[in-house]
Amino acid sequence: MLKFLKQVSDYAKESFQAAKYIGQGLSVTFDHMSRRPVTVQYPYEKLIPSERYRGRIHFEFDKCISCEVCVRVCPINLPVVDWEFNKEQKKKKLNHYSIDFGVCIFCGNCVEYCPTNCLSMTEEYELSAYDRHELNYDNVALGRLPEKVTLDPMVTPMRELAYLPKGVNDPHDLPKGAQRAGQRPEQILEQLEREKGDRDDAASDAEKN
Ligand code: SF4
Ligand code: SF4
Repeated sequence: MLKFLKQVSDYAKESFQAAKYIGQGLSVTFDHMSRRPVTVQYPYEKLIPSERYRGRIHFEFDKCISCEVCVRVCPINLPVVDWEFNKEQKKKKLNHYSIDFGVCIFCGNCVEYCPTNCLSMTEEYELSAYDRHELNYDNVALGRLPEKVTLDPMVTPMRELAYLPKGVNDPHDLPKGAQRAGQRPEQILEQLEREKGDRDDAASDAEKN
């Protein structure tokens, strides 16, 4: 009889423990249900790169003077500047220019030191290719302007994952039904326009007084 009672008591204890652990697990699940999403549904949603993002390099062929400063300052001497000396004009003539983005570390040295500013870093970060040789961009590919995330009609651009409104420090404080932590780019532009309008109104009122 005692053995049977002990078995019942052990069973009750284990059931209680199991219920406790299930409750703990579900509390985490329910807590996440009330949180806002932190994932980006790529490629339908894309983050807008920051202003100083160091993405694919853009090159302006006409501005290049073939000085090769970009090669000397590059930690891996990467840019290939193919030029010849034009004896009549007594000037270097650029034939081809290329950068291999399969090797480039996007440090930005070449952009920083180019004397004619013909190099710039763009916001383009989608450089995947099936063949690594396709990453060796010639001057034509380097001269292509980047595709802006904000101008792609197939994409919902997102400014930041956790761009919280002023005064809100915790995503849980945001009103229910708000889609994400942060405003969409068009909302930010609208807000900036509104603020600018308010400032202009205030300035004109001050002038009248
Ligand atoms: S970004 Fe850096 S690694 Fe890439 S080409 Fe320029 S200097 Fe070289
Ligand atoms: S530093 Fe600028 S101007 Fe000189 S070769 Fe490189 S890209 Fe051309």
